This record gives sequence, C-alpha cells and structure tokens, in this order.
Amino acid sequence: MSVPTVVTRDAHPSVLNLIGQTPLVRLQPFERGLNGVELYAKLEWQNPGGSVKDRAAARMIADAEADGRLTRDRIILDATSGNTGIAYAMIGAACGYRVRVCLPSNASPERRRILAAYGAEVVLTSPLEGTDGAIREAQRLYAADPDRYFYPDQYNNPSNWRAHFDTTGPEIIQQTGGRLTHFVAGLGTTGTFVGVGRRLREWNPRVQLISMQPDRPFHGLEGLKHLETAMVPGIYDPTLADRNVHVATEEAYRMVRRLARAGVLAGISSGAALAACVMIARELRDAVIVTIFPDSADKYLHDRLWDEEDEPGQGEP
Ligand code: PMP
Repeated sequence: MSVPTVVTRDAHPSVLNLIGQTPLVRLQPFERGLNGVELYAKLEWQNPGGSVKDRAAARMIADAEADGRLTRDRIILDATSGNTGIAYAMIGAACGYRVRVCLPSNASPERRRILAAYGAEVVLTSPLEGTDGAIREAQRLYAADPDRYFYPDQYNNPSNWRAHFDTTGPEIIQQTGGRLTHFVAGLGTTGTFVGVGRRLREWNPRVQLISMQPDRPFHGLEGLKHLETAMVPGIYDPTLADRNVHVATEEAYRMVRRLARAGVLAGISSGAALAACVMIARELRDAVIVTIFPDSADKYLHDRLWDEEDEPGQGEP
C-alpha cells in the first residue's frame, strides 16, 4: 500500500476548521395546515463541539489571541449553561489552553461528562441560581486572580454576536437564496439572535426578527434565559426584535418528541424554537421562516421529557 509522502495541513484540517457551514433543513412535516409557509432550521449540532456555541467561543478566543488578551499561560475561565463550556473545552484541548468553567450543578450529566472528557475543570454552582449563579462565581474567581485567567465573559463580549454576524447570518441568506422573510431564535447570551438579526436587517430591512424566551423564570429550556427576571446580557439589543414570543417548557418537550418522530433528534431549545415558529407561522401566508436548532438531543437523553406520553395523534409530526 502506498503511503502519501506529503501531508499538508490543508489536507488534514484541525477540528476547528469544521466550525460553521452547517446544513439548513426544511421541516416539511410541520408545514401541514399552514398557508404556504416554509419552515427551515439550521442544524447547529453539526459543529464539531455539537452546538451553536462553537462559533462564538472560537471567535472570542481568536479575537483575544489577536489582541493579546489571551496568552499561553492563561486559563480560559467563563460561566456557561454547558454548550459554551464544551466549545471552550474542545478548542482549549485542540490549541493547548487550560479551561475552567462555572456551571450550575443541575446541568445535564452528559454535559458535565463531555467537559471532563475534554479535560476541562468544572466549578459547580447552585442549581437555584441558574446561570446567574455561575456568572457570579466566574466573576468572583476572576476578580481574585485576574492575571491568571482570560475571562471572555460571553454575556458582554461583542465577539460573541460578531461570530453570528459574520458567519451564521450570511450562511442563512445564501442557503435560502435570499428568500427568507422571518428569522426566529431563542435568547441565551443573545449572541445568536443579535448577530444574525443585525446581519439580516442590514441585508433586508423588511425581514422580521422574532426572539423567543421561556415563559417563566424557572423553566426547563436549558441554554435560554427568561430576560424579564434574569441578568440581562450586556450584548443584548432590545431594539432589534420586531416581536418576542414566550414558550412553555412542556410545549418545547412536545415539539422535541414530534421532531424525533420526524427524524430530527433535536435538543430542548430547538423544540422551543420550532414551537415559536409554528406560533408565528399560523398567522402568516406565503412566508419563509428560518430558525436555529442550537444542539441535538444527545445531551438530554436522560431527561424526563422522553417518558411523557402524547395524546394519540400528537406524537405525529
Ligand atoms: N440553546 C442552547 C442549547 C444553548 O446552549 C444556547 C446558548 N446559551 C442557546 C440556545 C442560546 O444561544 P445564545 O447564547 O447565542 O443566545
């Protein structure tokens, strides 16, 4: 067997080169009964770290390397509901940085195990305080020893939304052939909604931007924030959304089950995003709605959502 003598970097790119350019799929089974509305979702779990947050984490790290905030001797420290931490952990492992993440202790066990597998250090915070408790712990650790860490602070870091302005937004325009009329996304750090929203607005001022969040402070929509009661991220732009919709946890769970039965094994915030799309779509005629599916069901397989029974017919897409 012949062995190639020249192996270039380009022939074997790093996992980091696989971030972005995720597929856009049509959710035809969910278009039944609508008035000529097309529904599309961008499958962000196709990123190498398994979520939309690879984009933001890679950009925050690259920008900090470029301007000297991140040097080899520093530990990457941040608060996360899980996915950003996983992205930091993957990138840190690939690039040789130590990573320490503050995470509410009720984050799914799968997330904690993935973080450990990449070699990241996890600081568990109170489940009662949610991501806000994790943010306070990261701030405390950083304040106690600022020279030891690079603290990207994803909630206040413009590189977070810029990642989506420069990649996710243009990809959506290109993948829909410029046909999209509505964009729907959940709010966590708000980086996805703000970055994509700003890009789409710039491209077409008539595009409708719809943000989505949980309908109550204590909810099961991991990765999303109830902004009326949570710490509002500094990068959030309250002037951007044409409309904001609320989704109940049970409704998101039901959508996750329906998606699975349609062949799409999506995560909980994806179910919530689809619930928001369907809510909007019912009021429209001849529209093209695009949403983001931030992660897959992989990290939620132990969740009670799979044990619930739907009414006959409801499990069907
Ligand atoms: N869904 C999931 C599962 C997430 O982890 C996140 C990130 N917190 C989001 C949605 C929201 O994305 P963003 O932080 O860009 O608002």
